Amino acid sequence: MHITAEHVITFIERVAATVKEQRDYLTQLDSAIGDSDHGVNLDRGFTTVLTKLPGVADKDIGAILKTVGTTLVSTVGGASGPLYGTAFLRAGMATGDRFELGPADLIAALEAALEGIQARGKSTRGEKTMIDAIGPGIDALKEANAAGEDLVSAMRIGLAACEAGMQATIPMLATKGRASYLGERSIGHQDPGATSAFLMAKAMLEVAEGIV
Ligand code: ADP
Ligand code: MG
Repeated sequence: MHITAEHVITFIERVAATVKEQRDYLTQLDSAIGDSDHGVNLDRGFTTVLTKLPGVADKDIGAILKTVGTTLVSTVGGASGPLYGTAFLRAGMATGDRFELGPADLIAALEAALEGIQARGKSTRGEKTMIDAIGPGIDALKEANAAGEDLVSAMRIGLAACEAGMQATIPMLATKGRASYLGERSIGHQDPGATSAFLMAKAMLEVAEGIV
């Protein structure tokens, strides 16, 4: 199975719809350990992204992802804008001028995205951030792919690990971002960014399930 540029557009549209639908939930999570803007931030960004998609509909996957990245960097306030923006930009750079991606290309794009987030946020795993969901998700996807699972099965395994990673942020002490200002009081709350990352991974799987 290959992922086409059209599938990537569908994925972005699905992320935008999910973010809108889950905006209040994400903001509610951010109100516990942040400043109550995560859902609003992402919704503003992806609503603008939707207006840019017609302009890249016939472009390669790298161009589509880079447009998403630059739009997020310039329209999403807060930490998550530059972080997700960098993730999409790096994924776009890794993808280049391809119109189709196989499993190895997808994994390489996701790894580039994760490296971009870590470089920009100076974060490592275990600090109660989005990378605590993204990192384990990519590891599991990669392992399942190497073990011979087809792409959709490997993505399902990846999503389960991503969800477990998201849930594992609840008992963590935040040492990066706004939540770190709370110190011990950040413990006991699910990280908003890990949650939005899981929702994006879920959207990715749903698109892949629709194309097999
Ligand atoms: P802000 O914290 O500036 O209000 P958002 O509320 O939009 O921005 O996003 C908060 C999320 O960003 C957190 O839940 C966390 O997952 C993520 N985050 C914050 N700082 C970092 C960082 N340095 N590295 C990785 N992720 C981070
Ligand atoms: Mg916030």
